[in-house]
Amino acid sequence: MAGVVLRDWKAELRDILPDFFDSPDGGPARPACVPECGQGWAGVVDRCCVRIAAALQFGESFRFESIRVSQGALRISWGGRLSAASEAAVRAAIDLAEARSLCVCETCGARGRLYRADGVLSTRCADHAEGVPAMRPEMEGVHLTQVTVRGRLRVVVAARYVFESDAFVRIDEDDVPSSQRA
Ligand SMILES: [Zn+2]
Repeated sequence: MAGVVLRDWKAELRDILPDFFDSPDGGPARPACVPECGQGWAGVVDRCCVRIAAALQFGESFRFESIRVSQGALRISWGGRLSAASEAAVRAAIDLAEARSLCVCETCGARGRLYRADGVLSTRCADHAEGVPAMRPEMEGVHLTQVTVRGRLRVVVAARYVFESDAFVRIDEDDVPSSQRA
């Protein structure tokens, strides 16, 4: 991306989807949400917004509470009034974004991995990395806590995130030979 001048991606997203970012009452008690992550993850956040917008039905509301970095990964919290089906779709979109962030350099958007430097985790490409890789190679891309909603139950399952398809594959379906399944 060297030499390319980008508009402020945060302002651009807010222009396109003001309801997702602005305070509903405009008051100081609930300030507008500004993503607190690097420009390398603009595409990850953008993709997440597109999925959420597609999931919302007429009359439903959604708003980001915070978009930040935790343990080197994107962390998104939100509020809204949604049907169970729409809520499941929103949670799935956010799970995908958080998993994808662990594969994308937060600085430049190139393919990255998790590094640890002085105890601090960050996801970076080889050019922007500091410290040493924080995951064993066989754990790269494994996302251990995907939460799905089944009726009123929230069920945690282990899943592998596949960057190329931007989708989860359940680890029990992916890794366990069919002959060993119950
Ligand atoms: Zn980078």
